[in-house]
Amino acid sequence: MSIGFDGFGSAYFDGDRPVSEEVSLHIANQNLQIGLDDGDTLFWPLKDIRVLPDMAGKQGFVLRLTTDRLARLFVTDGSLIAQLPNATRHAPPKGRGKLALWALAAVAAVAVQILVLVPLLADRLAVFIPPSGERALGEATFEQIRQALVETGVDPLAVCENPDGVGALSQMTAALSAGDDAPKDLSVFVLDHEMVNAFALPGGYVVLFRGLIDQAETPDEVAAVLAHEIGHVVSRDPTRHALRSAGSIGVLGLLFGDFAGGTVVLFLTERLISAKYSQQAETDADTFAYARLEGANVSPAALGSMFERLREKHGDGNQLVSHFLSHPSLSERIENARTAADPSRDFTPVLNDAQWSALKAICD
Ligand SMILES: [Zn+2]
Repeated sequence: MSIGFDGFGSAYFDGDRPVSEEVSLHIANQNLQIGLDDGDTLFWPLKDIRVLPDMAGKQGFVLRLTTDRLARLFVTDGSLIAQLPNATRHAPPKGRGKLALWALAAVAAVAVQILVLVPLLADRLAVFIPPSGERALGEATFEQIRQALVETGVDPLAVCENPDGVGALSQMTAALSAGDDAPKDLSVFVLDHEMVNAFALPGGYVVLFRGLIDQAETPDEVAAVLAHEIGHVVSRDPTRHALRSAGSIGVLGLLFGDFAGGTVVLFLTERLISAKYSQQAETDADTFAYARLEGANVSPAALGSMFERLREKHGDGNQLVSHFLSHPSLSERIENARTAADPSRDFTPVLNDAQWSALKAICD
């Protein structure tokens, strides 16, 4: 059987000469017969013909022979392509292993960015960020968290503002930040949520959840947690942490374009409120808290009591209080707080009974 094709517009390049020549085409005996101008005929076995992938379906088709790297045949007649057994099966691409290597390298590069460069840059950036920038970062993340924790409705999670309670909280904050070396411009808020937790944000924000005040048995226990969080503020742990989290998300955002939506906000919120700082950062915040509590004439042992209460209520693995309980050495921290208290001293509660009642009712 011999099939002729419309040779008009067909062209053959032999790879040696820069010019093409018009050819006549026939298929016979499983060969494509290419009749050249000079009377010669080339035989291309059909099984060895490939259509170049980038040309298929365009103005014409470019065919090549797998056994001849340079020869090219340009055809305009699509019905010829239908006769080729391997028309759509491309020659196996060389360098597939190389491609896999590149992909692996790209993934490794992203991992390096997230694990090494982002923290490094975040820590550098934290040094240079001006107080106003830190403040703005804290305000933005605070609003984000209030929004993310809403369970019903559209209003952000309420900040508790009962005036007597706010007064008692200010009294407690003032007692803990007396003295020249005390942190200034603290903003302490209580959020109306049952979570037993507290966290610090950039720019001097400290946030306590109502659940933590509900669980505390004395005002000193609340003060101890507050002092611990102020310790994080002073070390600027939240600033570095927020920049790291945001940076990691930024890198992920480069990979996954849809990462700017709600998922990222929830991820960020979770990271910020259950902040896991280094063991050293936690130890430093505890040590800071002891000194601040003693300065306010409150026993540092209160921090141990609060930790113990949290552990009794929730066990070690509870996510809600993960900032405090994730630490493997919690028992050690409780013990340290106990021994930090000077037994010969007479401590007084940080709030009187009326103030403590007011603080307990701050969300009413
Ligand atoms: Zn902490």
